[in-house]
Amino acid sequence: MESKIRVTVWNEFRHEKEGGAAQKVYPNGLHAVIKEFLDKNDDMEVRLAALDDPDQGLPDEVLNNTDVLLWWGHCHHWEVNDELVEKVRQRVYREGMGFIPLHSGHHSKPFKAIVGCTGDLEWGDGVKEVVWNLNPSHPIAAGIPKAFELPVEELYSEPFFVPQPDQLVFGSWFEQGNIFRSGICYFRGLGKIFYFQPGHEEFPSFYNEYVQKIITNAVRWAKPVNRVIKDECPYVGTGLFDKTHEENNI
Ligand code: ZN
Repeated sequence: MESKIRVTVWNEFRHEKEGGAAQKVYPNGLHAVIKEFLDKNDDMEVRLAALDDPDQGLPDEVLNNTDVLLWWGHCHHWEVNDELVEKVRQRVYREGMGFIPLHSGHHSKPFKAIVGCTGDLEWGDGVKEVVWNLNPSHPIAAGIPKAFELPVEELYSEPFFVPQPDQLVFGSWFEQGNIFRSGICYFRGLGKIFYFQPGHEEFPSFYNEYVQKIITNAVRWAKPVNRVIKDECPYVGTGLFDKTHEENNI
């Protein structure tokens, strides 16, 4: 059997400890709910990480043994160490780690550094959202109907300042008429990135069966395919460098 996908769910994990709606909806943190549904899959091995953990939840030993990193952050993006952000970026580009920023992760340092954008967008209060499946044959859309409704989710709206996605999988309509590219894919180096918009800390979207299915599919899609990349001259080992340029006639 193939080895399991090693998943780390990183959460800022501050809102849920401050009381209020977030704590009511996600008493153990929203990352715990994500772990719970991912744990139902035999092909995944899931661990939790949080901003206030030692090394901000991602010591080298954890990062280097993560195949797919999910990331939820909101008010404390700025606290994440730049050195850690660069390590995450390198692991995606050079080692093919999958990266799945969720919801307000559009403004996280790793997402902006990996994809190359400001991640800016417009937002508003919680309203009804309809998520449309724009790419039904995409692996992340497997088992997802042509549209599904989230009774209340934070309004995110275009324009969304990100590079043109390599693949557009979901698009959302919000009650007030706004639209948003809510499920988008990028390829960077060896790594794959899937940004997914639902998941405000005060709303129960992470309990929604289709949100769960999409995140589960995304983990399988984003897992590394090829972990080997060598930053060296392609002629090494070809014999070309054993001779002078004159001998090689180049
Ligand atoms: Zn939010």
